[in-house]
Amino acid sequence: MPLIEDLLELNLVERQLRGLQSRVHSAETYARAQQRQMDELAQRKEELGTRRKQRQVAIHGHETDIGSIDERLEKLRNDLNTASTTKQYSTVLEEMNTIKATRGGTDDLILGEMTEIETIDTDMATLDGEIAERQTVLDSAHRELEERKQAVSERVAELQADRDVKAAVIPASALDTYDRCADDFDGDAMAAIEEIDKRRREYCCGSCNLNLPFNIVVQLMSNSTQLTQCENCLRILYVTPEMKAETVTK
Ligand SMILES: [Zn+2]
Repeated sequence: MPLIEDLLELNLVERQLRGLQSRVHSAETYARAQQRQMDELAQRKEELGTRRKQRQVAIHGHETDIGSIDERLEKLRNDLNTASTTKQYSTVLEEMNTIKATRGGTDDLILGEMTEIETIDTDMATLDGEIAERQTVLDSAHRELEERKQAVSERVAELQADRDVKAAVIPASALDTYDRCADDFDGDAMAAIEEIDKRRREYCCGSCNLNLPFNIVVQLMSNSTQLTQCENCLRILYVTPEMKAETVTK
C-alpha cells in the first residue's frame, strides 16, 4: 500500500483515539483545577492555625508576667502592713500603684489577643465551610474522571493496539513527521488537496486554502514515498482516492 494510504489509515485510528482521550483529558483538567483550589484553601487554613498559635503563645507570656506581678503585689501588701514609718508606707504604696497600672495594661493586652483569636476562629469556621463545599465538588470531579476513564479504557486499549499495527508499516522518518503534526494539531495531521478549477489546474490545501502549485499535485498523484507538508499550515497533504480516480480516468 502506498505510504500516504498507510498514513491515512493510521490517522483514522489516531483521531478516534484522541477523541476518546480528550473526554478523559477535560475531566482531568477539571479535577486538577478543583484540587488546586482545595490546596489554596488548605494553605489558608494552615496560615490561620499558625496565627492562632502565635496569639496563644503571646497570651501565655502575658499570663506569666501577671503571675510575677501578683507575687510582687502579695509581697508589697505584706510590706504595707508591716511598714513602720509614713515614708516607708508611701514608698510601698507608690510601687504598688505603678505595678497595678502595669497589670491593668497586661490584662488589656491579653484581652486584645483573645479578640484576635475570636476573629481567627470565625474566619476558620467560614473557611471550614468552604473546604467542605470544595471537597464535595472535588469528590464528584474525581468520580467523573474515573467513570470516563473506565468507559473508554477498553476501546482506548484496542485503538492503541491497532495504531501500533498501523504505525509499524510506516518508515521511521515519515512516522516522525506524522507524529509531530498529530501532536501539533491534536490529531488533525493531514489535509486533502481540493480542486478549485481543474481546467486551470488550480488546487488548494483543504485545511487552510493555500493555493498549491500544480507540480505538487502531480507529485502527490504519483504515489510518492516522500511526504509533502503544506507550506502554510504544515499539515501532510494528500490526494483523495476520488480525485485520483477521476484524474486517471480522464
Ligand atoms: Zn494548508
